[in-house]
Amino acid sequence: MRRLALVVLAACAAPATPPSTPACEPGEVQDVIDTRVSLDLASLQGNARISACPAPGEREVKLDVSGLDIGEVRRDGEVVESRQEGGWLHVAAVEGERADFAVGYSFPARDKTAFDGWMPELGVSFVWPHFCGNLFPCDPALDDGVRFELDVTGLPEGTSAVYPRAIPADAPDYMLALAVGDYRRVDLGTSTGGTQLYAWHFPGQETATSAGTAHMVDVFGYYERTYGPYSFGPEAGTVQVDWGIGSWGGMEHHPYVHVGQWDFGDEEAQNHEMAHAWYGDGVRIACWEDFVLAEGTTTYITARALEQVGGPSQWDYYVDDFLTPSCTGRDVNTIVLPDQSCNEIDFLQHDLWSLATYMKGACFYEEVADVIGAEQLDAVLAEFYAERVGTAARMQDMIDLIEARSEAADRAAIDSAVQDWLRTEACPEDYATRCRAHESRGP
Ligand SMILES: [Zn+2]
Repeated sequence: MRRLALVVLAACAAPATPPSTPACEPGEVQDVIDTRVSLDLASLQGNARISACPAPGEREVKLDVSGLDIGEVRRDGEVVESRQEGGWLHVAAVEGERADFAVGYSFPARDKTAFDGWMPELGVSFVWPHFCGNLFPCDPALDDGVRFELDVTGLPEGTSAVYPRAIPADAPDYMLALAVGDYRRVDLGTSTGGTQLYAWHFPGQETATSAGTAHMVDVFGYYERTYGPYSFGPEAGTVQVDWGIGSWGGMEHHPYVHVGQWDFGDEEAQNHEMAHAWYGDGVRIACWEDFVLAEGTTTYITARALEQVGGPSQWDYYVDDFLTPSCTGRDVNTIVLPDQSCNEIDFLQHDLWSLATYMKGACFYEEVADVIGAEQLDAVLAEFYAERVGTAARMQDMIDLIEARSEAADRAAIDSAVQDWLRTEACPEDYATRCRAHESRGP
């Protein structure tokens, strides 16, 4: 996700196999395992087939349906007992057993100014950060990763829809999206990791598309080779979207990310959204307080990969256009890694939701790379991803791993980077030089 100023910026695979056993793994919280959504855009009727394990000791599954009109809940054709309260649907379940049921519903169109569901005027859905309950019954908790299938019918004439038929790995609920429009598809090629890449653009946008995706196949290959295999299926792509007054930045709707139409020619925006498959979507954040683990990491690895494949350096752009305004009071500044609270902040009203988090996070990693070597930092990012893909993690876990994989002599410098970039509101005095210096000792 990327946001600028006051505007909102922001695969065909084998279907998930049905469970062979209804028993649930012991866990601490409710777990939605998979969700198969069918949407009819003409009638605005939906159906969601859900498999979920209730929370321990609970005899119901609770789902956010705050933006939906719920019809019947059924299992094997029989109506299942359910009730609604305060925007939540409670579906009867057996304690400790997996519940499989289908929810029929309608999803009223959302206004483009609210920007929190299916917006027919724009031809896109957008449910980040916690508005999945405007599109399908869901548990918006960050620690709940879900496998999805999606089927879309009722398209307006002359349009095509871009959406994943199946997402074969655990994803955050806000990752699921569709885009409908007059799309042209470009085959970008196959990455070295074997992922087929595409771009979908509006008519007449060939030049922007070429510019924005110039290094995408190589960058994607760098992510795969360096950080680990892509987890969201055999293909991925970027989709040009009209977000109304704020068509800048993009949103990590893997496998088909959305990039605002005004930024479609921007390689940084494009490859940023691709990088979220590793950090933000692949490794989810456990708490909104850990937003820097998604955005700081993604911002850093985008610049790193572009540079490594012969693309343009992003560091002047980062420092001059985004970091400096935050550091000089022209834009929001904040402590980007608040103390250890988890999901206690009102994220959309919090200053963490600002470019300070992206840039100070990227500067933190850049400085760590200067200390331990960019290749060593890549190895740490790969190890972290390998251990935690498909799960939710905290930024402190990342800091701990960086420290564990560095020489004792480097610890003080790493601690300073943590303190100065993540734990202090004021930017370091020499912020521009320190972030831009980029003196990796790697070969
Ligand atoms: Zn992002």
